[in-house]
Amino acid sequence: NPSTGKYTVSFIEGDGIGPEISKSVKKIFSAANVPIEWESCDVSPIFVNGLTTIPDPAVQSITKNLVALKGPLATPIGKGHRSLNLTLRKTFGLFANVRPAKSIEGFKTTYENVDLVLIRENTEGEYSGIEHIVCPGVVQSIKLITRDASERVIRYAFEYARAIGRPRVIVVHKSTIQRLADGLFVNVAKELSKEYPDLTLETELIDNSVLKVVTNPSAYTDAVSVCPNLYGDILSDLNSGLSAGSLGLTPSANIGHKISIFEAVHGSAPDIAGQDKANPTALLLSSVMMLNHMGLTNHADQIQNAVLSTIASGPENRTGDLAGTATTSSFTEAVIKRL
Ligand code: NAD
Repeated sequence: NPSTGKYTVSFIEGDGIGPEISKSVKKIFSAANVPIEWESCDVSPIFVNGLTTIPDPAVQSITKNLVALKGPLATPIGKGHRSLNLTLRKTFGLFANVRPAKSIEGFKTTYENVDLVLIRENTEGEYSGIEHIVCPGVVQSIKLITRDASERVIRYAFEYARAIGRPRVIVVHKSTIQRLADGLFVNVAKELSKEYPDLTLETELIDNSVLKVVTNPSAYTDAVSVCPNLYGDILSDLNSGLSAGSLGLTPSANIGHKISIFEAVHGSAPDIAGQDKANPTALLLSSVMMLNHMGLTNHADQIQNAVLSTIASGPENRTGDLAGTATTSSFTEAVIKRL
């Protein structure tokens, strides 16, 4: 916004604990004087020709601002509309899901020094939604892999690895079995790697990758892994469990050619909604990814350091999910003091 010198970012507060953790982000951003104005977006689903879609003003806001921060959205079961998260990904062509999983210093979990980065193909594979009944008792589910979608996500993985200074890109696959589908994914990676001579490409079978990451996660601290949709879904949750012991601390980014949406990995936590108990860390770390993406790296570092040092400072400054006694509000105040 040339008149205020600030960036406008769309904000989808979400359901359940969404408004509480969103309030925390807004307070911290304002205390840190981040040059961002929030534009509130309502994405309550509407139905057009039997399909779920999001309201036009929300689409227009995100299309105009190019960047959005998003709280969790509840997916009502059995009410006939598909996941809004899937709708958002499809509407804005968000082809790559970036999931860093990093241990928090001072907060002890089973594994220490975990620092994993996984990029998941976000649009096709097993999530193409192509299933049919061949005859009673026999169904087919199609895993769709295309050169175009593979190329854009693998290229993004190379670019991301280069940008964060990691020399290895690992393609996780099962091309011994999915010869054509995963074979195409791996071949595209091999072709693209010629354009990135400064980076090393490795390939790793998904079963082998899972074994290696749980036995020695520190083997991946200099790598970025990239994989087709379903493997990425499973592996990224595994990584979160290894790093934080929960999803409550894990941020993510959904990247498209122009538009990117940053969001916490956890859901709307209806069991604790409205009780000032939610941990805003995952949404805060997602907002840090967003600031880095926007080039506001000083603000990103400032907020990240304040959040992490607050968690490290002891149980009185941790929320209940981390076995602490803090509320959402008191945690937020503690972060603001450390900015
Ligand atoms: P959930 O992540 O909402 O909750 C699982 C458990 O983790 C609960 O005990 C909850 O209290 C706890 N938890 C989650 N986030 C927390 C936080 N920030 N602080 C403290 N505790 C936290 O998963 P669920 O119960 O399976 O799903 C609830 C709803 O969220 C469903 O409607 C689901 O569809 C939706 N969901 C949305 C997203 C998204 O928008 N990205 C992701 C997952 C689930």
